[in-house]
Amino acid sequence: MMKVLIVEDDPINMKLIIEILDSLDFMIQTATNGFEALAMADKDLYNLILMDIELPGLDGIETAQRIKNKPGYNKTPIIAVTAFAMKGDREKILDAGLDYYVSKPIHVADFIKLISDIFKRRNNESESKR
Ligand SMILES: [Mg+2]
Repeated sequence: MMKVLIVEDDPINMKLIIEILDSLDFMIQTATNGFEALAMADKDLYNLILMDIELPGLDGIETAQRIKNKPGYNKTPIIAVTAFAMKGDREKILDAGLDYYVSKPIHVADFIKLISDIFKRRNNESESKR
């Protein structure tokens, strides 16, 4: 089963994201700040990470970069989920090494399609390596 880590400090957003993912058959774990997420990534290997950008302490960009440097994580997709809607933020976040960008308020159908597409692409890649 796919293991997904959600990093989000806002309980309402966290609840919403969990509800959206509920329709997909994932094992979901949660962290409410960057340091907690780093500790969890040390203990476990996740197949997908949803990363809020505005977090207390370590921000989502820094947290994502540190996770990407951990063993086994260089190809793990990280989706930035952010309230930042300023022009240029998307580029800034993608340039920083995060793989995808979703802005709040989350468009549920698009969000589910993005996640399904990520896992479909992943499965196709592992098929073609056989
Ligand atoms: Mg936040």
